[in-house]
Amino acid sequence: MANKLHIDTLCVQAGYQPAKGESRQIPIIQSTTFRYETSDQMGRLFDLEDSGYFYTRLQNPTNDHVAARIAALEGGVGAMLTSSGQAANFFACVNICEAGGHIVAAGNIYGGTFNLLGTSLRKLGIEVTFIDQNAQEEEIQAAFRPETKLLFGETVSNPGVEVLDIEKFARIAHDNGVPLILDNTFPTPVHCRPFEWGADIVTHSTTKYMDGHGVAVGGVIVDSGNFDWEAHADKYPGLTTPDPSYHGLTYTKKFGKLAYIVKATSQLMRDYGSIQSPQNAFYLGLGLQTLHLRIDRHAKSALKVAEFLNNHPAVSWVHYPDLPGDKEYERAKKYLPNGSCGVLAFALKGGREVDNRFMDALKLVTIETHVADCYTCILHPASHTHRQLTDEQLREAGIAPDLMRLSIGLEDPDDIIRDLERSISEAVR
Ligand SMILES: *Cc1c(COP(=O)(O)O)cnc(C)c1O
Repeated sequence: MANKLHIDTLCVQAGYQPAKGESRQIPIIQSTTFRYETSDQMGRLFDLEDSGYFYTRLQNPTNDHVAARIAALEGGVGAMLTSSGQAANFFACVNICEAGGHIVAAGNIYGGTFNLLGTSLRKLGIEVTFIDQNAQEEEIQAAFRPETKLLFGETVSNPGVEVLDIEKFARIAHDNGVPLILDNTFPTPVHCRPFEWGADIVTHSTTKYMDGHGVAVGGVIVDSGNFDWEAHADKYPGLTTPDPSYHGLTYTKKFGKLAYIVKATSQLMRDYGSIQSPQNAFYLGLGLQTLHLRIDRHAKSALKVAEFLNNHPAVSWVHYPDLPGDKEYERAKKYLPNGSCGVLAFALKGGREVDNRFMDALKLVTIETHVADCYTCILHPASHTHRQLTDEQLREAGIAPDLMRLSIGLEDPDDIIRDLERSISEAVR
């Protein structure tokens, strides 16, 4: 069904088809465990010989319906929900990269992921090289080593709103025999499906547009099923050689195209935990049913606000990839033809002092460490999320020190513009 239907229909219906007399909406199966009738039935589940639910840390029907919906939206073969976007990116990497392994990642990624890779994975013995995603292909190639296991980036970066050249990244990854893992949180699969451009694994912080209402922290990993692990068997022994914790089962042999996502579920989730609660999965499933309507409105309103800011004499610069004349306009038109997302970056003339007066004057737009939901909100990374970094380090991470990240919600764009206009005039007095 998934391939024939339009994405709007998949948002509403994919992943759950009730049988006669069953609930129309995805039911919340708020249960830690599940009953079996014989000891043998239960034993077969632990050998991965039968599929079935036994403990919600590993799998739960509510989560599975919602994961299947997201897999259909991205065009993948399988997906796994996690307790947060951080957990999704952590599992996506350590599923194929162990101590002694190496990761190449774009340097302009979300601050939390930058810390995860650069600090916490390093402590686990995984080396990471950050590169400039807009560098020449040869320069990025030079960062790869024999022990490199994956290439990581964000389709549209947070907070810089930079659009990745996905085809270039896929080519570099595949030339080096590794998968491309992309965090697709900002555009969502409604506006960009990275598998269609060669990415192999996609992650999301579902906390953002997928939930969309600021109610539930969550994440997801989606597997395209396209990467040929067996062709690089020496590099990925965790997938291509027997797993002693499952009586010597080999994921690629037993599960084929599903090897990566089955390993993530049956091994990583079993051992590290971090499952999404069924209640939160329900909220996520509900959010997905309007994702196509919301993301479209977010992007349309953001373009209107970007145009307003672009024409305002007190604004020093605006970056929004859908804005004609923007440095990434052409790339955005290629990868995000129906619009990018609701997030834009800009700065006022006069530096941080003016920025701060402006933010303090806002009434409708709120100051929040959040982004990408129905409320319009603003953040100044240099004063907030990234305040431990020097201006130089900020620039290295692709964040201008005067950059303000504005996330356009679902309010009327004219009301948002009026609040911005009044606050700018109070700040530049
Ligand atoms: C928010 C975010 C994350 C982290 O997700 P959490 O759900 O907050 O753990 C990862 N990547 C991107 C692009 C994000 O915006």
